Amino acid sequence: MQPEDLLKHLNEAQRAAVSALPGPILVLAGAGSGKTRVLVSRIAWLISQEGVSPHSVLAVTFTNKAAAEMRGRIENLLGLPGGALWVGTFHGLAHRLLRLHWREAGLPQTFQILDSDDQLRVVKKVVKALELDDTRWVPKDLQYFINGQKDEGRRPKTLADDGDPTRRTMIRVYAAYEEACQRAGVIDFAELLLRSFELWRDHADLLAHYQRRFRHVLVDEFQDTNSIQYQWVRLLAGRESLPFVVGDDDQSIYGWRGARVENIQRYQRDFPGTTVYRLEQNYRSTGTILNAANALIANNSGRMGKTLWTDGVKGEPIRTYAAFNERDEANFVVERILESTRLGARRQDCAVLYRSNAQSRVIEEALIAARIPYRVYGGLRFFERAEIKDALAYLRLVSNRRDDGSFERVVNLPTRGIGAKSLDIVRDTGKAQALSLWEASATAISAGILGPKGAAALHAFLALIEKLARETAGLPLHEQVDRVIAGSGLLDHFRKEKGERGEARVENLEELVSAARGFTREETSELGELDEFLAHAVLESGEGQASEWEDSVQMMTLHSAKGLEFPIVCLVGLEDGLFPHQRSINDIGGLEEERRLAYVGVTRAMHRLYLTYAEQRRLHGVDQYGTPSRFISEIPTELIEEVRPRVQVSRPLYGSSSSSGHGAGASGYGSRAGGASSGSRAGAYQGAKDPGRYVEPPSGGAGMKLGQRVRHGRFGEGVVLRVDGNGQGAQVEVNFEHSGRKVLMLQYANLEPI
Ligand code: ATP
Ligand code: MG
Repeated sequence: MQPEDLLKHLNEAQRAAVSALPGPILVLAGAGSGKTRVLVSRIAWLISQEGVSPHSVLAVTFTNKAAAEMRGRIENLLGLPGGALWVGTFHGLAHRLLRLHWREAGLPQTFQILDSDDQLRVVKKVVKALELDDTRWVPKDLQYFINGQKDEGRRPKTLADDGDPTRRTMIRVYAAYEEACQRAGVIDFAELLLRSFELWRDHADLLAHYQRRFRHVLVDEFQDTNSIQYQWVRLLAGRESLPFVVGDDDQSIYGWRGARVENIQRYQRDFPGTTVYRLEQNYRSTGTILNAANALIANNSGRMGKTLWTDGVKGEPIRTYAAFNERDEANFVVERILESTRLGARRQDCAVLYRSNAQSRVIEEALIAARIPYRVYGGLRFFERAEIKDALAYLRLVSNRRDDGSFERVVNLPTRGIGAKSLDIVRDTGKAQALSLWEASATAISAGILGPKGAAALHAFLALIEKLARETAGLPLHEQVDRVIAGSGLLDHFRKEKGERGEARVENLEELVSAARGFTREETSELGELDEFLAHAVLESGEGQASEWEDSVQMMTLHSAKGLEFPIVCLVGLEDGLFPHQRSINDIGGLEEERRLAYVGVTRAMHRLYLTYAEQRRLHGVDQYGTPSRFISEIPTELIEEVRPRVQVSRPLYGSSSSSGHGAGASGYGSRAGGASSGSRAGAYQGAKDPGRYVEPPSGGAGMKLGQRVRHGRFGEGVVLRVDGNGQGAQVEVNFEHSGRKVLMLQYANLEPI
């Protein structure tokens, strides 16, 4: 490849960074300025121009998805198989190292990874075993404490309690937790990093080997590295390596999880002679979107200061929409997506971004109702679903009998008559003799300290796992999974569960067999296929969802949208209290981090951006009444077009005239794809805008108002979305929780307000 070919898709500043002489480099630049493009081109440059072997490149990306994309781009650029490069997330790379050097790292070869739920379960058990009151020693808080310490590289033995009894107990829990994990041969996410860091720190020969090997360490999204990640990079880089990091202080959004934006300055101190490159041209967004983003982030203090401009088009205004509740918001989003796809956009061009995972459900429902395929990144993902975790627990036990978390999960699932008392005896035996639950079970059975029924049932369970292990040894992976799902009794168990839920569970289990069939292992792996698959299930959850090939709407939290871009973005739930998040509002640091998150959100959009908020929102089962997020008011009004004026829906509204003159219809919002009554809803809102103008209640209608909850004889409970017309012909549209949206004649519907 000729250098010109590589550089022709880059501007001058980007070229300078890509072709810079080897040396520590920092690219500091705003969103969409091509940092990731520069990082990828740099790898291609090193290999094709500097004669660097692909084996000496290690690149850290933010998500597994980004890693896969990067491999693909490098393959394309160089025509090389990307497999030779070590590209991955910090966690993924740390995991790879520990798999290679499990012995030196003090782990069993078949160690398993705990995700956050599993981890919490272990913490709970530890709290119980230490006989602490879990209302005072809240397991979630302790989990946070443990992870925080690990992110800072601290072990219990290096922690001082400073005479503080609370802290002393927390350290005690941390120590007991560590012991429990070590005994079970499992490690959590934070441990992956800390353990691999210690592996290098304590094994000079290994470190020297990797320092020699990875002369080129590249890190994307450097602003979000935490302390241990930074130290990991620094240790690997040593004195010889030539790190190349790119980042943007304005997009630092993981402070709450220990990320240190100061690492950017620290890097420049720790690697003397660092050359800093700045990129200023944005290639992603329209002028309007970019101006909005610049104005928004200007409200933060202490920025490193960057300018960002574009020579692209000004583009459309940013559209805001005031929904009266979360369902209305979801419907608005669905309509915008339908409108865009009708105009030729692909579904995958549309992204829905939200602050917290729980917001996705309502939007998912609206998408399902409209039959629009979508994918959720993050949140409750395939590998996190209960039945999948049950199946994985069996598989994990088959592979590693000492995995206590898995043992606990399935020892009595499906029910096989192993009672709480028997399990308590097993736990006590384990604790007293420092045994895994598996070993403790065998010990308790042979010591005859269990009741005869409990002993027989437990014995049957142990025999079942042994039998599954024997039967599946040597089978192809998907057959192993298939056998274990059936042989464990799980499949039958869920088949018996009535209704859609049980059906979905069975489908999910079947899907796990397909996932196993489609699984390809890493070429360097020394692990058995099953163990590799189990690790993959934890690490990649959410990123390998079933319908990847299908053109689908992309849904994710703002946090997981970092680094990505979409032609059309709907940023939903812009209400004070939700975004910015309630717990950050009174804390300047927290508020600024939320603003950076908003900046990340806005700068994901290439051509079109919608910002929506709801006057009333039911979240986690609680009704909240929000005011529009301050972030909206921080965007200059000339960049914004309100799709419809805000309305006061809390006021009663009895029907309305369906003549829509201005308001929603006039500002472009009116057509309701698939809806029974386009335009007329605008009239309803028109009425709502004018609280003085009450329309006569429809005969027989007991004062229906928007947002009101009602009960219907057949459809159950729902919320009134629209009241249309009055008198005999009045209609209401109700969104029923179980039956979806229905338009009913008020006269006959017999709706009961609740
Ligand atoms: P973020 O901060 O969001 O991670 P980034 O700085 O990493 O953004 P990229 O994702 O690398 O930016 O680039 C943004 C978009 O601009 C991409 O679509 C990329 O292909 C395009 N782009 C970058 N540089 C150029 C260029 N010189 N010419 C044309 N397009 C470019
Ligand atoms: Mg990027």
